[in-house]
Amino acid sequence: MRAALLHRPGELEIVTRDRPTIEPTQALVRIRAGGICGSDVHAYRGASAFQNYPGIPGHEVAGEVVELGSAVTGLSLGDHVVLDPMLRCGHCYPCRLGRYNCCTSLKVMGVHTDGGFRDYLAVDAGQLVPISASVPFDTAVLVEPLCIGAQSVSRGRVSSEDSVLVLGAGTIGLAALLLARQEGARVASLDVVPEKLAVARSLGADLTIDPNNDNVEQALNEWTGGDGPSVVIEAVGSPRTTRAALDYVSPAGRVVIVGITTEEVPFPIPMLVRKEMDIIASRNSREQFRRVVPLVESGAIDPRPLVSHRLPLDEFQAALDLIRTEPHRTRKVLLTFD
Ligand SMILES: [Zn+2]
Ligand SMILES: [Zn+2]
Repeated sequence: MRAALLHRPGELEIVTRDRPTIEPTQALVRIRAGGICGSDVHAYRGASAFQNYPGIPGHEVAGEVVELGSAVTGLSLGDHVVLDPMLRCGHCYPCRLGRYNCCTSLKVMGVHTDGGFRDYLAVDAGQLVPISASVPFDTAVLVEPLCIGAQSVSRGRVSSEDSVLVLGAGTIGLAALLLARQEGARVASLDVVPEKLAVARSLGADLTIDPNNDNVEQALNEWTGGDGPSVVIEAVGSPRTTRAALDYVSPAGRVVIVGITTEEVPFPIPMLVRKEMDIIASRNSREQFRRVVPLVESGAIDPRPLVSHRLPLDEFQAALDLIRTEPHRTRKVLLTFD
């Protein structure tokens, strides 16, 4: 079988490996689609703090169960599945709370351990989430990033009462937009790339804001009748937008931070206290798979506009180059495994 092997930053090779054998608790999945995440790009560029080299990247994958270990229950041969890439210990404090995504020894497949950009993946069956075969693989593969958006909406306690401002119209920002709309909230999308704002509009954004051309505060005031958004979801991951989220949010509102910056962001304490805002961090969560899969299966959420390109696994390098050279033209870039 083929596997994408990242020897070290900047050195990627498609290698041939033996097809893996499975343990009794594992399933063998024939991978059919993979999504290239920002973290895969960071790993290639050497900008990831956690990436294991040499290693097989890829944590957004969907495929078909082709072999089952003797101890596996709840999965059948031929099932279509998406991967939950988060490996947890099960007994630390957050794990005991059921918040496995915060496990003190959390490992993410494709980052800390070998991931899914290969033809066959042997994995513990508990990491697989079944999805209806009526959902094409290149849509099913979007469940994982949709879950990150879903968790940010859950963490922000978004309801139909809310006016939600989403900073950033990349994959995660658009996922947050889709899930906030699902809760019945009004959603505004802010980005500096007009093409991305056009996608946000097509996915139901009530307002799009380009800070290079629009007066952000004025647009938000008009949109909310002077209140400001009750929830701001930060999905850019820059110090400037993270700081701006605190300014934009209404008093008594909630700021959800899902974008990651490694730089420190100053906390304007008097304003935080005056507004009595909640600042909430958010990351992917296993719980969301159960919520998002039925929404994709029923068509309540159609994430296909999140995708801009599809390339075969053999062109993984070209896909990474495309993302680097054409950041405004690329959204989610998928790998196919035919
Ligand atoms: Zn990802
Ligand atoms: Zn744990």
